[in-house]
Amino acid sequence: MYPASSSTRSSDTAPSPLPAVTSMDYFEIIPLPTDNPHKLSDENLHSLASTSTNENVTPIGTPATEVPGGQIIISISTAFNSSSNHGDLPPDIILTSNDHVYFYVHRTRLHAASANNFNNLLTEGATHPHLTTITLQEDSVVLNILLHVIYSLSLRQYSPPLETLLEAIEALKKYGVPLGPHAARAMPLFNELVIKMPVMPMEVYALAAEHDLFDLAAEASSFLLSFPLSTLTDQMAARIGPLYLRRFFSLHVERLRVLQHLLARPPSEHQPTLDCGWTDYQRLKTAWSLACSGIVYDARADLSAERIRTILESLKVPLTCLDCKQSISQRVSEIVMKWSITPRTILRNTDGYRSLLHS
Ligand SMILES: [Zn+2]
Repeated sequence: MYPASSSTRSSDTAPSPLPAVTSMDYFEIIPLPTDNPHKLSDENLHSLASTSTNENVTPIGTPATEVPGGQIIISISTAFNSSSNHGDLPPDIILTSNDHVYFYVHRTRLHAASANNFNNLLTEGATHPHLTTITLQEDSVVLNILLHVIYSLSLRQYSPPLETLLEAIEALKKYGVPLGPHAARAMPLFNELVIKMPVMPMEVYALAAEHDLFDLAAEASSFLLSFPLSTLTDQMAARIGPLYLRRFFSLHVERLRVLQHLLARPPSEHQPTLDCGWTDYQRLKTAWSLACSGIVYDARADLSAERIRTILESLKVPLTCLDCKQSISQRVSEIVMKWSITPRTILRNTDGYRSLLHS
């Protein structure tokens, strides 16, 4: 595990109780001469490579600025600072964001994560006996997420909005970092996308479909049960592609097929009594059929089991026969139980529905 090296931030790995309100990090600030604000001098590089002594902090995204007294300050990531070793290896590359935040990272880590030599930048950049500096086009917020993903560090303390996560994912692609391993279940990026999923579930579903990330698509699909299929745009359908489009439509269509199947069987008939005979049971079946037709007519894939229970249990109200009431209760309980276990996420195939249809 990559060590958290700064005392100015919370642990990267511990579950964070922080509310999802900010994507801020804290950075040490280092004064620089005003005549060379965007490039560290040899003296400064040596100084920063050996130690970071300035205890001041400033929020992520704070650009290099001139302060009273004629100095330029820069910001250094506390998660990726000069003493952030990777194993026993000290940082050997400084990545700078377009808002002049410095991230100390490791060539071996970037090289191992990237399929395109980190957008072919690892062989470039200003060389130095100790450190190479590479300036990137991304801002510090996106770069911070990108590096946390590459180093498999939790993003929880930053709680980045979904739009920022999507920007970081685009950056991952640009720098040749395959999304699959980093967006697999339980990885930091997966966890953060799941938390933000309710905001834009279709966007996450499309993203997952584009990269064949089944687990992520399945999580997103559970938030899309109320999605009106008729509103799916051509553009979104094209992004999702045929396989995940079929899985998405199957989820909706097969859930409704299961519902129809469950409702088709009326409550059981009891032995005739003096007060309740064949004719009464026919009336009960007719009322059941009408109620179920109403449920199916209005049903969407997100129909709740409690809604089904409320409608069908109401059929007991006009009855005086206790046997008929008990029969309705038993049938409703069966339906509610089976509807509750009907898959609420996409499946790789339709076998999961088939077992319910034949039960
Ligand atoms: Zn009866």
